[in-house]
Amino acid sequence: MVWQSPIAPGISWYQATLTERPTYPALDGSTTADVAIIGGGFTGLQAACQLAEDGVDVVLIDAARFGDGASGRNGGQLGTGQHWWPEELETKLGEERSQAFFRVAEEAKSHLLDFARKHKINIDFKPGQLSVAHKRGMEYTYRRHVDTLAERYDYPHLSFMSNAETAERLGSDRFFCGIRDIGTGHIHPLKLLVGIAKTAAAAGARLFELTKAENIEHVDGKNVIETGRGTITAERVLIACNGYIEDHLEPKTAAKIMPIRSFIAATTPVKKDRKILPGGESVDDSRFVVRYFRKAPTGEMLFGGREVYSADNPKNISRHLRRQIAEIYPQLKDVEITHAWGGSVGITMPRRPLVHDIMPGVTSIGGFSGHGVMLSNYCGKLYADEIAGRSLDLELYRDLDIPSFPGGGPLRKPLLFLALTWFALRDRF
Ligand SMILES: Cc1cc2nc3c(=O)[nH]c(=O)nc-3n(C[C@H](O)[C@H](O)[C@H](O)COP(=O)(O)OP(=O)(O)OC[C@H]3O[C@@H](n4cnc5c(N)ncnc54)[C@H](O)[C@@H]3O)c2cc1C
Repeated sequence: MVWQSPIAPGISWYQATLTERPTYPALDGSTTADVAIIGGGFTGLQAACQLAEDGVDVVLIDAARFGDGASGRNGGQLGTGQHWWPEELETKLGEERSQAFFRVAEEAKSHLLDFARKHKINIDFKPGQLSVAHKRGMEYTYRRHVDTLAERYDYPHLSFMSNAETAERLGSDRFFCGIRDIGTGHIHPLKLLVGIAKTAAAAGARLFELTKAENIEHVDGKNVIETGRGTITAERVLIACNGYIEDHLEPKTAAKIMPIRSFIAATTPVKKDRKILPGGESVDDSRFVVRYFRKAPTGEMLFGGREVYSADNPKNISRHLRRQIAEIYPQLKDVEITHAWGGSVGITMPRRPLVHDIMPGVTSIGGFSGHGVMLSNYCGKLYADEIAGRSLDLELYRDLDIPSFPGGGPLRKPLLFLALTWFALRDRF
């Protein structure tokens, strides 16, 4: 039977196109480890993999199956840099830190691609990313961004796209101009996720699915996780629950990472329409509620867009997304949608990742704010690197000092949803 994620709606096209998705047992009873990891997305599994390769005794549990959160269900776009462009980060953090974050993001990109190559994981990598303007008046900013990255960030892979070039590369005249990035690309995220889990298990990590952490306590110098069927006692704990973190497990993290539901639809192959994305790039637009889409190697359009600022799921994901597809590609207004699914994007107030030490030996990592395919993988690895004393780059994120969302307790979510709905409305004007 096809597996339905218990924490996110819909069966994804990624799951439907996998040849195998190994299952892992639940943890029955109690155990000990050097490091215990809660959350089997990219962050947790990369950390487990690197720790196991370093000879550390590591246990990882996930409340659902690995990849049932954002990591197995996302748009698969790697992007470049952080959520914010470097010039925006410079105004917030200064040039030196902005340069350091850009370097780390480039290392994250190489790490992901090298990891897949080294472990022979076929992730369907396709190069190219088009970032396009849905409003007039972005031309100056886009041109300046291309120049800034080439001149000061040693990144020569961007080019400005005129209105005509944008229309030709997209096969749609809906956007005004854009930027082409040939230094990045897009992947099948669930294939990567499954590959990381297999690699981690082969390296000796003890991996458990359908095992929920209910509580974490610091007892006699150790950290004890309760699972309902036993405990895990460990020197160190990594909380990698991202947008699925619950208040009762760790309230400080839950106050800083909030979930936004984002949805994706897959269509039947649109291969015959050669005008649609002839170069095979992925696309993201300049809306606050970003539309992100691409053609899979087999021709299906994978289109992400509609966001919902509540825990509810929209009743008809396909209908909303088909309308958004048709706004860009009117010829696809009746296209068949074969799969529609959603997941929670973990966001923070300043849209920068959270790395936070909660109590002795307990660290929380997440909140990649829609830019986590390469960064969550890398932050997981950096967590292990820090333990091994190999790299201190995780400090860059720790120093960001992410604030809690305002409101506290039950008011936090309604306040955020109001604020986000206001920004989303501005996309229309
Ligand atoms: C629809 C969608 C599209 C996206 N598109 C892109 C994109 O194109 N590019 C990009 O860069 N980023 C994108 N993202 C974001 C990206 O997927 C995430 O940043 C990244 O996958 C985060 O990985 P993670 O391991 O931190 O969290 P997740 O993958 O969310 O994993 C968290 C895990 O924690 C587990 N968990 C939670 N609570 C417990 C508990 N109490 N006990 C045990 N386990 C628990 C959950 O079951 C889950 O498996 C998208 C996200 C979504 C949802």
